Amino acid sequence: MRALVQTAPNALEMQEVSEPENNAIRVAFCGICGSDMHAYAGHDPRRPTPIVLGHEVAGWDSDGRPVTVNPLVTCGVCKYCTTGRDNLCPDRQILSMPPRPGGFAEVVSAPKANCVPVLDGIPLEAASLTEPIACGLHAVRLAMNIAPLGEAMVLGGGAIGLGAALSLRAMGADRVTVVEPNTDRAKRLMDLPDVDVLDSPVMADTVIDAVGIDATRTTAFSHVRPGGVIAHIGLGGGNGGFDPRYATLQEITFFGTYTYTADDFRDTAQAIFDGRLPVSDHLEALTETRPLEEGPKAFAELALGQVAAPKVLLQP
Ligand SMILES: [Zn+2]
Ligand SMILES: [Zn+2]
Repeated sequence: MRALVQTAPNALEMQEVSEPENNAIRVAFCGICGSDMHAYAGHDPRRPTPIVLGHEVAGWDSDGRPVTVNPLVTCGVCKYCTTGRDNLCPDRQILSMPPRPGGFAEVVSAPKANCVPVLDGIPLEAASLTEPIACGLHAVRLAMNIAPLGEAMVLGGGAIGLGAALSLRAMGADRVTVVEPNTDRAKRLMDLPDVDVLDSPVMADTVIDAVGIDATRTTAFSHVRPGGVIAHIGLGGGNGGFDPRYATLQEITFFGTYTYTADDFRDTAQAIFDGRLPVSDHLEALTETRPLEEGPKAFAELALGQVAAPKVLLQP
């Protein structure tokens, strides 16, 4: 089969590789994630080359049924897996990290239990957004467990920030504002229902940092209201931007959030199917689809910040 193989930092090429035999899923679309970009740049020692990246897959299972794939594979028996926190399983694996090849290929292998059937009539492009959006939904669920959502602000309008914004809206936040300084990207988000898109921050009870750099953490602490919550989901880097004094005096809760549980993933898929997460209606704004062969160009443009779409999907 054809696969997009990363051969060295910043180098991708189409290669003929052997097709997986077990639990084969024919890939319809696979989204490019920030973590793929991190590996592409050569900054992820967990992903040595040569490697096939990609973990945001929708396609068809061996019976030809449309599915969206939860790329997190967990042990099922540890204390995390048996208490609904399977995303923290110490033995977790993810598609696109050894030993599991990723989805930038014609076929990918994933356990049957990780395949969620896609409802008839739902575009597979929308189904492939389940993974990044589930990250946002998980963050919002954790935040709700701490304090009422109130008025919410999301820093960063990429796919994860968007997923958080749509989840906040679906779960009853009083107001949802996405802060996205890139005007081309901001324009694409303007039509989302009940979501304000601004280029500067507002005061909020719940802040979701979907960027995760010193500057956005600083903004989160300076704009969260007393008693509020900051959910940190971006992996931008650095370790500055904290305001422990303000956090103490005003009882701010700051927490990190990673991926989603198997339940979050299924619930996200369901909410996309029934429209509570209005993704199918806004595919044109949210995604840009390119042939898998053009993957090298797509990665290069993303690395240079030249892509406005919150999500690029590759199509084998
Ligand atoms: Zn992802
Ligand atoms: Zn486990």
